Amino acid sequence: MDLDWNNEERDLYDGVVTFCKESLQHDVGALDANSEFPKEAWQSCADFGVLGWRVPAELGGKDYPASLVAFLMEAFGYGCEDNGLAFALGTQLWGVQTALLQFGNEEQLEKYVPGMLRGELIGAHAMNEDSSGSDAFAIETTAVADGDDFLLNGEKTLVTFAPNADFAIVFAKTAPDAGQWGISTFLVDADTPGYTASEPDEMMGLRTAPYGRVLLEDCRVPSSSMLGKTGAGASIFGFIQSWERSLVLAPHVGAMQRLLEQSLAFARERKRGGAPIGKHQAIAHRIADMKLRLETARLLLYDTVRKQQDGAADMMGSALSKIYLSECLTQTALDAVAIHGGDGYLTEAGIERNLRDAIGATIYSGTTDVQRNIIARLLGL
Ligand SMILES: Cc1cc2nc3c(=O)[nH]c(=O)nc-3n(C[C@H](O)[C@H](O)[C@H](O)COP(=O)(O)OP(=O)(O)OC[C@H]3O[C@@H](n4cnc5c(N)ncnc54)[C@H](O)[C@@H]3O)c2cc1C
Repeated sequence: MDLDWNNEERDLYDGVVTFCKESLQHDVGALDANSEFPKEAWQSCADFGVLGWRVPAELGGKDYPASLVAFLMEAFGYGCEDNGLAFALGTQLWGVQTALLQFGNEEQLEKYVPGMLRGELIGAHAMNEDSSGSDAFAIETTAVADGDDFLLNGEKTLVTFAPNADFAIVFAKTAPDAGQWGISTFLVDADTPGYTASEPDEMMGLRTAPYGRVLLEDCRVPSSSMLGKTGAGASIFGFIQSWERSLVLAPHVGAMQRLLEQSLAFARERKRGGAPIGKHQAIAHRIADMKLRLETARLLLYDTVRKQQDGAADMMGSALSKIYLSECLTQTALDAVAIHGGDGYLTEAGIERNLRDAIGATIYSGTTDVQRNIIARLLGL
């Protein structure tokens, strides 16, 4: 596979790394400790143009191909130690903008996309419920037609940005007896009467992104707020997932590179028994494995992304990427802690945070177990 980026693309990559290092100065450790969202950093990212990378030029974006956006998000994961911020940006690029750009009509695009680019509007992708999770289409939220409106009732859980989103893409049953074909999708503004966002829920990792619940109680929305056609919710969800599963993990490749370089520097500098610890085979082999995971994860990611952007929904590739990138980052973060010894375990050093952050990716957008089910099914089992 050709991974030769041209000079212009490499310059863009370097520009993102420089932006992260020079303009994102927030104290990630302190925000992580308090589960706090870095609002100013978010605005800096919007001003830098991150939220417009995949948006068409007529809506004010750059219209970059998905593979280039993945490459730039890899740069972000490398340059920025805030994995939660990288994840939060990914939810907008892939979880929210994918749906809007593919299924939104002109009015919906005009209403939401330019505001997202400017950093003024944040969207949430609200599918998950207590009743569903891995059984995604077992949602219980309903949307009942009432004149020219729909009345939404239900509760969405574990939703990224729920506490501070300006609008949510809500999946609800318009025909409860029709199974997955009875689900429709709505764009619901957070200030709509009957829409209540919870306080933030605490998570183990990725703590600089906010999470919570959205309660819908007789929440009245006009039928013009429907995204796509009636009953298209499962298709819309599937489409988003096929993109999100591989692409939201692109910053993982950069994070693995960052952890490799940090570990390598530490292994050269730290001396024990009169020699750098890197001279001990146990450490050297861990670092060799970090390099192996980095290179193979990168190949799998871009192979999947390029197949998808050429038009074929690569269900196999996105399931493989989802498992492989999340498990590679988890193991790499675990190795980085081991290589750094007690320092790796110290919260202040920021190494252990990567391990907590990595585990999130084995769960969101469909757990690794569910991805293995998909792979087995596609293999005919
Ligand atoms: C950081 C984070 C961000 C998230 N953001 C969002 C968001 O923005 N929007 C949203 O809608 N949701 C979001 N979620 C929710 C996420 O999609 C669900 O947590 C996930 O799909 C798993 O569902 P569950 O938590 O109900 O686990 P469950 O489905 O209850 O699974 C529990 C365990 O059982 C296993 N399991 C379940 N069914 C099977 C099966 N058929 N075969 C094998 N094993 C199985 C699972 O792998 C898991 O180990 C987020 C979650 C996290 C952690």
